[in-house]
This record gives sequence, structure tokens and C-alpha cells, in this order.
Amino acid sequence: MKNETYIKVKPGYKLSGFCFLFNSAFITFQFFTSLVFPTFTFHKKSMRRILVVLLITNASTALAQDFSFGRRMVDTLTTPYFWGRGYTNDGMKKAADFLADQFKSYGLEPMNGKSYLQPFSYPVNTFPGKMEVTINDKDLVPGKDFIVSPETKGVKASGDLDKLDSIQFINRKEMVVIKMQDKLTWDISPEVATYSLILVDKKALNKAPQSFKVNIDNKLVKNFKAANICGLVKGTVKPDSVIFITAHYDHLGGMGADTYFPGANDNASGVSLLLNLAHYYGQHPQKYSIAFICFAGEEAGLIGSKYFTENPLLPLKNIRFLTNTDLAGTGEEGITVVNASEFPKEFAMMNAVNDEKKLLVKINPRGKAANSDHYFFTEKGVPSFFFYTLGGIKAYHDVFDKAATLPLNEHEHLFKLIVGFNEKLMGSTTSL
Ligand SMILES: [Zn+2]
Repeated sequence: MKNETYIKVKPGYKLSGFCFLFNSAFITFQFFTSLVFPTFTFHKKSMRRILVVLLITNASTALAQDFSFGRRMVDTLTTPYFWGRGYTNDGMKKAADFLADQFKSYGLEPMNGKSYLQPFSYPVNTFPGKMEVTINDKDLVPGKDFIVSPETKGVKASGDLDKLDSIQFINRKEMVVIKMQDKLTWDISPEVATYSLILVDKKALNKAPQSFKVNIDNKLVKNFKAANICGLVKGTVKPDSVIFITAHYDHLGGMGADTYFPGANDNASGVSLLLNLAHYYGQHPQKYSIAFICFAGEEAGLIGSKYFTENPLLPLKNIRFLTNTDLAGTGEEGITVVNASEFPKEFAMMNAVNDEKKLLVKINPRGKAANSDHYFFTEKGVPSFFFYTLGGIKAYHDVFDKAATLPLNEHEHLFKLIVGFNEKLMGSTTSL
């Protein structure tokens, strides 16, 4: 990965004529490929490679105050190349290397002075190969018509199904269970069950399941290697006071050889906001140090952020405030701020920025919640907020959470809100 040419492309802060040409060629190319290739299916490796080179080159032409930067980053991070930033096709590792390279190109220092990557490992059940399910002689589409429950054991079998209740059907000999669902929501499991549970969208079948044929591969990876990406812009006056901005970059990865979960809202959107801020602060160092972490292992249970709090790369007591974001891609109904009631002074500061600059329609306060990467920091006494956007599309942990339908309408306002909030935290008067 490190030897690939595309990650050596440095961001150009001026759009050259060449880039304009390149961008329009890219748009034409993207339009062409969208006609030729069905969604999520890029059979030819070379074609995939070309597409990624174009997307990343495109993403690298951003201006700090160019808010199409966010859009290009979301487009890039959701390409098949990164395969849902998960557990097959090296998706998470490719994303890690890409993000470390972005940090470097913005002028961030590695948080530990040596490497942007903070490695750790954990067990995960993965689905790298076959993913075929036929019910009542109808071939179902992975992701759209069915998902396998994340703890599912690989199986190749066929037979009849007995009714357990109105939504569950079983073949006891093969330990295959079919469960009908209104909405398919995928997840990650650290272990493998003794059964194979297949969750089927009710809309995919017109009568109750009676027979099945399945061919599913799984592989338990006991020590999946992941890494947090950690960078820093040193403060000019009080470098030991640090403001953290965090967002997880991992998502669910792939389910079988041909299907992946792009995770545009969850959390390419938050990472694109973090990258835009890192880009900005790289060019505008502040009184305090500004630190950035893209966490891994969030979807597997906040593993990366927990690991960081147990193995911090700088003293946790130096953290003046941490702002984590996860699901930052909508916002027509504003945002919700977790820990607002824990830190009322800072919540009032954030609201003051929002009122002064007329940014979001609403900032909802919420109490403590163990729902994203701020959580273990809060537990260690680090003051923190976690915000997520409200309104817009409802896709979540499914194949429909994709860049094309993500509005990303509040990216610029969120950027300005965080910059303004950080200024207040530092007692600074300069304004964006
Ligand atoms: Zn998330």
C-alpha cells in the first residue's frame, strides 16, 4: 500500500488548469462508469484501481475553505477500493494508510513523534468469500434482500424449513435459521456461533420460507490488526493544553466477495469533517495544540478509543476538551450533543457560537451515552462532547448508507461551529 503511487499525491492548494481538466474528465468518467457498472460491483481490478486514483487525486485538490472538499472525501472513502473500511480486502488498512498520508500532507505531526498509527488488535468474524442464499427457489441479493447475522457460521447446505414462529424458520439438522425482518441492520461480532442465522427483508419474499439453499464462507480472525490514526498541530502559546477532534473511520466492511457497506454517513462524513479541520489547523496553528484521532474498531465496540484511553499518547489531563463526531452527513434538523448536561458551560459556549454565526437550526442537549468514541474519555474524566446530525436520510448500517444519497448539507456550518467553539475554549478572539 505504501508503495502505491496515488497516496503520494500531495494536496494542491491552488487549482491548476490541469486539475480542472482532470476534474471534468473525472466527472465524465464517473458518469460513464455509473452507466456501465452496477452499484457496488466492480469486477475488473484495474478499473477499480483507476477509479480510486481518480477519486483520490480529485480529493487532493481541495482548498482549506473549499467545502466541496468534504464531499470529495466522502466519495473517496466510500469507493470499493476501501471496501467499507472493514475486515476484508484490506479495507481498513488501506483507509488507515490513506488517512495517515492525508495527515502528513496537511503538516500534522505524529502524536507520539514517530508514527501516525497506533496499532492494536481484536477478534472478528469475517465474510471474505461465498455469500449465496436461495429461499423458495428465489436467489436473494446480499445486503439488499438479506444479511447474515454477524456471528454466523459458514455453511453449505440445502433443505426444508420448519416454522418456529411467525418470523423464524429453521432447519435443525443444518442449524440454519431464517428470520424475517422489516429493516436489515448489520453489525460486527468477535466470535462465531454454532448456527447460521440469515436475516431476510420481508419485502424480498411473497410467501413464508419453506426451502433453502445456502453457500456462505466465514473466517474468524483472532487477531485482526487495526490502528488509530493520531496527529497533532503544536500550539504556539500553550502547547501542553490540547483540544481533541475525533471521528471513527472504520465501518462494517464487506459481506461476501461482492458486497460492501460504504458507510457514507457512518462515518465517512465525520472523518471528512475532521480532515477538513485538520487541513485548516495545519495551516493555522492555534494557541493550544489541536490533536486529531481517526479511531478504528468503533463498530466492533469502541475498541480503538478504549485502547487509546488505556494507552494515551499524551497525558489525558492535558486535554482541555474533546469533540467527537459520528454521523455528520445530514443536519437539516440540527444536531444532538451528548454530554451537554455534563458540561453546561461548554454547551452554552457552543450555542453562543451557533447563535452568533447563525449556523444550525437547532442544537439538542443530551446527557451521557455510551454510543460513540467520546465515551471512554468521559469515563476517564476528560471533558467531551459527541455530536451527531439530525434529519435527512435514515440509512444506517446497511448498503444504502452511500455517498450518492448523503446530503452533507451542514458540513460547512459544522466546520465553522467547531472552529468557533475551539476559539472560545482557548479564549481567542479571532474569528473565521
Ligand atoms: Zn459510527
